[in-house]
Amino acid sequence: MKVESVRGMRDILPEEAPLWQRLEAEIRATFALYGYREIRPPLVELAALFSRGVGETTDVVHKEMYVFPDKKGLKLALRPEATASVVRAYVEHGLYAKGDLAKLYYMGPMFRYEKPQKGRQRQFHQYGVEALGSLDPALDAEVIDLASFLMERLGLRREGLLLRLNSIGCAGDRVGYREALRQHFLPRASELCADCQRRLAENPMRILDCKQPQCQPAIRSAPKSVDHLCDACRHHFQQVREHLDALALRYGLDHTLVRGFDYYTRTVFELASRELGAQDALLGGGRYDDLVELLGGPATPGVGFAGGMERLVLVLQAQRGEQTDETPELACCVVPIGDEARKKAIELLARLRRAGVSADMEYMGRSLRKAMQVAGRRARYALIVGPEELEQGQVKVKDLATGEQRLLELQEFSAAPEALRSRFPR
Ligand SMILES: [Zn+2]
Ligand SMILES: [Zn+2]
Repeated sequence: MKVESVRGMRDILPEEAPLWQRLEAEIRATFALYGYREIRPPLVELAALFSRGVGETTDVVHKEMYVFPDKKGLKLALRPEATASVVRAYVEHGLYAKGDLAKLYYMGPMFRYEKPQKGRQRQFHQYGVEALGSLDPALDAEVIDLASFLMERLGLRREGLLLRLNSIGCAGDRVGYREALRQHFLPRASELCADCQRRLAENPMRILDCKQPQCQPAIRSAPKSVDHLCDACRHHFQQVREHLDALALRYGLDHTLVRGFDYYTRTVFELASRELGAQDALLGGGRYDDLVELLGGPATPGVGFAGGMERLVLVLQAQRGEQTDETPELACCVVPIGDEARKKAIELLARLRRAGVSADMEYMGRSLRKAMQVAGRRARYALIVGPEELEQGQVKVKDLATGEQRLLELQEFSAAPEALRSRFPR
């Protein structure tokens, strides 16, 4: 029986893995510069975490979440996003007890049951930060600055980045705003798609997320959340904008931007790139000042963002297309000549690796000529272990880039690791 991968679950093959590793390293390094530490929540959580945290009426929970019972009938979910998990962990482990700002980041697979398309699989990967414990509007701006700086480090030009910004106010503001939306959409209900007709009854703010063309006229003329802010929220938003100006981060106000999750409060934002053709969002985030309390912790504000890694891999791939990287994967391929020499070769191979020289050898029973061809593709040097050289206490090193050959004394393999390593400069 031939077993294939599940629809929407894609393998990342060895050819692609170096790009992912580079991306992960850049993300980690950038987050560390801003004082974030990694947290690794599990992929499986109680389904209730997301229906409570993200919102029962959101598309992500309502339509796309993988939900299944375990053997005891407990209703579990594969995480569709990580903010709810991070906040759950923050509450569960009492991270708030230190009375300090908690700056946490994560990276890893998320799961949503959507129609798979290029760059959007059912298992996809996200990275993100969460800063928990402060209402300071400077922190909203810092999170946005971090997002922008990360994109710049990955080679996207700052001038090409599009920052969309909005404030959706606090829970109190949204009571009035939802009512205004209901009043606006109710007479237009017949123009709306079937999903939006349901949203109108359940949660009219979610109509603003709709991408259906037929809903756009009604969305464009909808009331603006910024006109429904209380004094504190209006002041907060004003300060966020001043900090962004001070950081020379340009933005456009987008009154239809509400983000697809119910936990957001006040600041919401999205970052897109003009360089990527279609103006798809690279990442998005905002404040969620009620989520910690909603999940059973003490009232604690939070702000963060999440972005898709697949999108960034495409960016890096496009960059790589311009430059060719011919560095071979290994420093050295060991090529023995004859069975006696092979035993010695295996020993030398182990010594190379312990000295920090990446190395491999021929295991496929190829001829010497074929083995040298393979070495030429994989490594910078071939270490040729032949009976005649061995008798002299030596092995031959061939530089596969220049064709130069030299002899190496066997005793060098017992020298200090740095000394042996220096014999194989990359
Ligand atoms: Zn407010
Ligand atoms: Zn719609």
